[in-house]
Amino acid sequence: MAEFALDLDDEQKAVREWIHGFAADVMRPAAAEWDEREETPWPVIQEAAKIGLYSLDFYAQQYFDPTGLGIAMTMEELFWGDAGIGLSIVGTALAAVGVLANGTEEQVGTWIPQMYGDADDVKLGAFCSSEPDAGSDVSAMRTRAVYDQATDEWVLNGTKTWATNGGIANVHVVVAVVDPELGSKGHASFIVPPGTNGLSQGQKFKKHGIRASHTAEVVLDDVRVPGGCLLGGKEKLDERLARARERARSGERVKNAAMATFEASRPAVGAQAVGIARAAYEVALDYARNRVQFGRPIIDNQGVAFQLADMRTQIDAARLLVWRASWMASAGKPFTAAEGSMSKLYAGEVAKTVTAQAMQILGGNGYTREYPVERMHRDAAIYTIFEGTSEIQRLVIARTLSGMPIR
Ligand SMILES: Cc1cc2nc3c(=O)[nH]c(=O)nc-3n(C[C@H](O)[C@H](O)[C@H](O)COP(=O)(O)OP(=O)(O)OC[C@H]3O[C@@H](n4cnc5c(N)ncnc54)[C@H](O)[C@@H]3O)c2cc1C
Repeated sequence: MAEFALDLDDEQKAVREWIHGFAADVMRPAAAEWDEREETPWPVIQEAAKIGLYSLDFYAQQYFDPTGLGIAMTMEELFWGDAGIGLSIVGTALAAVGVLANGTEEQVGTWIPQMYGDADDVKLGAFCSSEPDAGSDVSAMRTRAVYDQATDEWVLNGTKTWATNGGIANVHVVVAVVDPELGSKGHASFIVPPGTNGLSQGQKFKKHGIRASHTAEVVLDDVRVPGGCLLGGKEKLDERLARARERARSGERVKNAAMATFEASRPAVGAQAVGIARAAYEVALDYARNRVQFGRPIIDNQGVAFQLADMRTQIDAARLLVWRASWMASAGKPFTAAEGSMSKLYAGEVAKTVTAQAMQILGGNGYTREYPVERMHRDAAIYTIFEGTSEIQRLVIARTLSGMPIR
């Protein structure tokens, strides 16, 4: 287990420079176009695949980096480049982590490579959990998975919403109810393999920001998947359900395993928010040094300079929370104060505030699409909503600190 350190080693620095180069040279010049088109930027994903930046190998290397900082560093640089394109590149990783968290070794080896495809034939993955009536309240999920013993198949029915890459992915990971009596303890995750009948894309959403990332409903109409598509396998599921039923009978409360997974994955989302905030701050700093009003650069006014000082302080604080939680996840430290949620909460809020301040510093130019901060501000707004809203992060932190079932 690596000690927590703020110094990246030479190899990490080289990887960061490499990602930064791609973000600056390929993503940034394409950002405005794909934001306007509101389409998945396939050519940029293909470029990323060609150099190995969109690949299972690269993410596995960063995911298992013993310092824990690999994924945080990767996310920050990509999202510094552009958040919409960044999400199109890393959306697959969300589905891959769903398989990694619950799947057997064989399932991991079979399905994750199919989510990425290869440089000549790039594919995507999608993680489908949210539903129209089950957003923050996952226990209200209705999509049903029923086992058909005669054919050893699971039959999925329901409608998922807000799925990143939903309907255009090669492999979908779908969370569904297998035992409605058990609330969120009665859920299981399934692979829906490429080309499976009955899975279709519903409405594609037109969004405020991250518009280069595809977000859509996914409709499951009698979708039949082989028994082997249940992540973790039937035996493990039956054992888990039996334990949950026993606990429900005895009234025993146990720690939610899914919560631990969320704590470990939330810092990666926080790191994306840090990348957007840093990008907007840099534009604002440069502008404030060069824009002259009343015969001097606007940064000569404390009112502007102090804003920049606060912006930089908040960004650095957000990064420190993200790095701490990332290291804790990798070192297997218990999240006794919901440090993962803390990092996502703070970084998301900082991204929203800092990008708004950046627009203010750019004045009228900040409000136009001639400059990138307006897009960055629209992109930042999702970071207090998805992967658990800011309110839900506060709920998790407050419950963890107090031990009380705060509602
Ligand atoms: C662009 C985008 C991409 C997404 N990608 C995915 C994806 O790939 N896969 C996926 O499964 N989902 C995805 N989501 C869904 C996302 O995670 C949900 O939108 C989010 O969890 C919130 O759920 P909701 O939208 O239903 O809001 P609601 O849960 O209806 O919340 C509405 C408001 O009420 C507040 N609220 C709710 N309950 C409480 C409470 N107990 N206390 C205080 N406040 C509360 C919320 O904080 C929020 O402000 C995505 C969403 C978007 C917009």
